[in-house]
Amino acid sequence: MMRNFIFWLSSKKAVTSTIAERGMRYGFARRFVAGESLDEALTASAALGRESRRVSLNYLGENVHSAEEARRVRASYVEMLQGLERSGIDGNISIKLTQLGLDIDRDLCLSLAGEIAAQAGALHRDIEMDMEGSAYVDATRNVFEATRRKHDNVGLAVQAYLYRTEKDIERLAPLHPKLGLVKGAYREPVKTAWQKKSEVDANYRRLIDLLLEGRFYPAIATHDPAMQEHALGRLRERGMPPTAYEFQMIYGIRRDLQESIHQGGHTLRIYVPFGTDWCPYFMRRLSERPANCVFVLRSLVAETFRPARNANR
Ligand SMILES: Cc1cc2nc3c(=O)[nH]c(=O)nc-3n(C[C@H](O)[C@H](O)[C@H](O)COP(=O)(O)OP(=O)(O)OC[C@H]3O[C@@H](n4cnc5c(N)ncnc54)[C@H](O)[C@@H]3O)c2cc1C
Repeated sequence: MMRNFIFWLSSKKAVTSTIAERGMRYGFARRFVAGESLDEALTASAALGRESRRVSLNYLGENVHSAEEARRVRASYVEMLQGLERSGIDGNISIKLTQLGLDIDRDLCLSLAGEIAAQAGALHRDIEMDMEGSAYVDATRNVFEATRRKHDNVGLAVQAYLYRTEKDIERLAPLHPKLGLVKGAYREPVKTAWQKKSEVDANYRRLIDLLLEGRFYPAIATHDPAMQEHALGRLRERGMPPTAYEFQMIYGIRRDLQESIHQGGHTLRIYVPFGTDWCPYFMRRLSERPANCVFVLRSLVAETFRPARNANR
């Protein structure tokens, strides 16, 4: 119920503009968002690099409405790759195909994705495609397949809450790609996706087993200790070396688990989101864990009642 309430709130302009206006100024959004600029994201990534985490830079923003905008986003993605290279950071970028015009011109989207993959390849880096709402899964998979056939440095996220994902994974197996297994972050109808946590978790475990069969480079992208335990058990059984898989978690979430995965000698990649359009992303993170709202409210109350500094000057 709380989750639905937060989704509802996120559709209210008055709420989101208050949060957007205050989040960075008061600092509460910084818990989950590395900043509004690429420089801030690189600074956060360099700090993670000093703790031996790899990163994936995630430029926040969703659908674009013109080819011009899509080309601008492509340029931003290339700048992100160059920024990582310039700063000597061990990392890649994750891209959203709706930011590259998936809605308006699929051929354009495919060609921009190919250009980004080629630029990344020239820098010996890789890219990962995010999976968005279910209306985009076919198109995203198709663009991924076509791009992956030409560029071996491209990975894709797949969502355990969708009934179809097992079939999609089987279909992608001949490409031997990197696949990141996530639970899924959007609201999907019952005809498309499992609704109960127990059902999503059961499918997540099944799909981990599938991804660890040796046909993929799997990325286990979750903060759920039970899912991680399941994966760790399977990795032990199979004796897989840390070069054959990675764990992924999101900036600011379950830093305790991030540390224990790292201490266990596993490769860990942190998703580092940044950008001016951070509010919808931030609301999604709140909806995943209502306790996060308490943290935000506490920051707002503290700020509201804090005596003005230098009031006497
Ligand atoms: C690297 C990465 C990439 C992702 N890419 C995509 C994508 O492309 N498409 C997509 O649909 N989704 C993506 N997601 C989001 C994902 O689908 C889930 O919505 C999100 O990860 C929460 O699910 P969970 O697996 O952590 O498990 P959950 O069962 O939701 O949570 C398990 C535990 O994790 C902790 N936790 C989870 N979320 C939070 C939070 N916001 N704040 C604090 N603690 C929290 C809590 O302790 C919770 O009990 C990605 C997630 C990761 C980690």
